[in-house]
Amino acid sequence: MNKFIELIENAESIAIFGHIRPDGDCVGSSLGLYNYICEQYDGKKVSVFLEEIPTKFNFLKGADKIMHEKTDAVYDLGISLDCSDTDRHGIFMDIYANAKKKACIDHHRSNLGFGDYYYCDPDASSTSEIVCRFIDMDKISKEVAECLYLGIIHDTGVLKYPCTSETTMQYAGKLISLGARSQYIIDETFYKVSYKQNLLTGRALLDSKLYLDGKVIESVITREIFEQFDAGKEETEGIIDKLRVTEGVEVAIFAYQLNDETFKFSLRSIEKIDVSCIAVAFGGGGHYRASGFEAKGNYQENLEKVLEMIKQQF
Ligand code: 5GP
Ligand code: MN
Repeated sequence: MNKFIELIENAESIAIFGHIRPDGDCVGSSLGLYNYICEQYDGKKVSVFLEEIPTKFNFLKGADKIMHEKTDAVYDLGISLDCSDTDRHGIFMDIYANAKKKACIDHHRSNLGFGDYYYCDPDASSTSEIVCRFIDMDKISKEVAECLYLGIIHDTGVLKYPCTSETTMQYAGKLISLGARSQYIIDETFYKVSYKQNLLTGRALLDSKLYLDGKVIESVITREIFEQFDAGKEETEGIIDKLRVTEGVEVAIFAYQLNDETFKFSLRSIEKIDVSCIAVAFGGGGHYRASGFEAKGNYQENLEKVLEMIKQQF
């Protein structure tokens, strides 16, 4: 029996944590593991702590059980999923810190290691794929399969990014055979966009600029633009993927304004440029070809710094 499952078996109360602004892999791995533990181990107290999740993930089993408020409760085991650092837990940081035992399961290159039990595989497509490695795949329900399938689909760009391995495909296939509705999950949670999202994407593409002989593309949504479209950060999803596929582009930069002085940056690289080290230099993190960070101060100045770092790597 592996050590991680042993920790789960020995704990009466378990708290699961993902990262701020939860994405598909974060929600899928958290709810997948949550449902698996609830279904396999009777009598354990299990909680998932996450910020509000995108409504399109609400069909997943357990989505209505997610705790959005802090608590003073002390858990036997805290499990951090898909987080390169404990500050990614946001307002739930203290609950994890106070847990009697801590586990960290992740796949971010920038993860430097934390917890009593630490398992990070940067070659894994997703945290959801790592959860598949740990649990007994022959025992999981359709509901668990849908959570993990959704997580894999989102972090691989529908089984397309280079992080998709033969094993990823095998797990995805197994999850479909267990009942995960592939087309529903892909269409409804990955490709479907709102009308507002289309308009905001259009605006971001119109405003985009090329740098370094067309090898870098950049676009930014300011607060004024959000207001103009009555839109928010949810509507920015997918913009970076549209920028990324521009012919000749090696790196895509997309940013949106969080508040007066802070912008959230997303970086994507097609092949050669390591964007995770750029994100880390700004206090963020991520993967070789997909990473992000928040930066205070003048947007244009921060953009210049990012461009300079990309130029150095070229
Ligand atoms: P996205 O650009 O889609 O927000 O994130 C791309 C990848 O970078 C994800 O794996 C995400 O977890 C990571 N990432 C994004 N923003 C941050 C950040 O501020 N800090 C850290 N540590 N990782 C981030
Ligand atoms: Mn992930």
